[in-house]
Amino acid sequence: MEEPESFDVAIIGAGPIGIELAVALKREAIRYVHFEAGQVGNTMMWWAPQTRWFSSNDRISIAGVPLMTPDQGKATREVYLAYLRSVVTQFDLDIRTYEPLRNVERAGDAFLVTTEAHGEKRQTRVKRIILATGGTDRPRTLGIPGEDLPHVSAYFQEPHTYFRKRLLVIGGRNSAAEAALRCHHAGGHVALSYRRSELPAKSIKYWLMPEISGLIDAGKIEAHFDTAPVRITPRAVTLKRGDETFDVPADFVLKLIGYEQDNALLKLCDIELTGEDQIPRFDPQTMMSNVPGIYLAGTAVGGTQTRYKIFLENCHAHVAAIVAHLTGKAPPDDLSCELPQAAFQPES
Ligand code: NAP
Repeated sequence: MEEPESFDVAIIGAGPIGIELAVALKREAIRYVHFEAGQVGNTMMWWAPQTRWFSSNDRISIAGVPLMTPDQGKATREVYLAYLRSVVTQFDLDIRTYEPLRNVERAGDAFLVTTEAHGEKRQTRVKRIILATGGTDRPRTLGIPGEDLPHVSAYFQEPHTYFRKRLLVIGGRNSAAEAALRCHHAGGHVALSYRRSELPAKSIKYWLMPEISGLIDAGKIEAHFDTAPVRITPRAVTLKRGDETFDVPADFVLKLIGYEQDNALLKLCDIELTGEDQIPRFDPQTMMSNVPGIYLAGTAVGGTQTRYKIFLENCHAHVAAIVAHLTGKAPPDDLSCELPQAAFQPES
């Protein structure tokens, strides 16, 4: 292996917060290297075409670059990915895409990070690491027979797929409601299986809830409340309600039951994970984890969120806090109000 290159900081992850960090470090003339396991904005690549952000444009714009949309509405996935490409281009950011982090070792007062590009391992020496690696790396699983059949997916991608097909959506919050509505409007025969007795109105966006309720009441989307899927076969899903089971015919199944953080990297770095959500331990004033020299930024700080509180829109302050700590400048006063305090008390 070649002699490792040396940098002051490594940013891991090139989602919006990773990119915003890169711009901030560049503005401070900090020598950094930036790795991303996939492409820039990787998480949005699996969203269905034309999915709109729930957050308004000003809250998801980064690095002071305005995000404008042709219709003044919330940005779609396509518009936002184009925006991220524009920001990367505008600031001429060097992002080593498709180069996942494989290992982190202490090397004196620095770290030796190993990445892999095209099957080739590379080592880089850095003084600090910032993990901006997100929190929705893989879908939750049901753990039932048939879950891996080819017509079953945890990613809602293209509504046209379900035209004149019987689709069973499993789940009962925003992903399930949005997919059920879009597939219904694309001509699919949509049914929903949800484990509770009714949809949680307070957890579903106010522009989705009346429509999905109306379509369920009208029998146009067939809702099976109080049910748990117990088996998936090529033609049907067996649902259980109380002691009874029954089959719902399905050509396709979308399991929209939420996502989990892949915390292997956090564990590799010796970051302590706490509680049911496996929230990484860090100091909210500096964003440094329990491992000196390793910072956390963006939704990575939330672990696997069972009730979503950390979104891109309330993570911008992480960038300012990290830059302040790296440069020795005062941290922003309002940082702590951006974070749910109960979950993030640093060790005293
Ligand atoms: P979520 O909020 O975690 O909801 C998961 C759903 O699956 C819940 O209804 C949950 O039931 C159910 N569930 C979980 N485990 C289950 C199991 N083992 N068996 C059966 N059901 C199970 O996930 P999400 O809806 O994917 O939303 C994730 C985040 O993305 C949220 O912040 C959401 O607002 C956001 N989102 C954004 C957009 C957009 O920007 N356009 C679209 C969709 C979602 P309970 O309700 O009983 O917990």
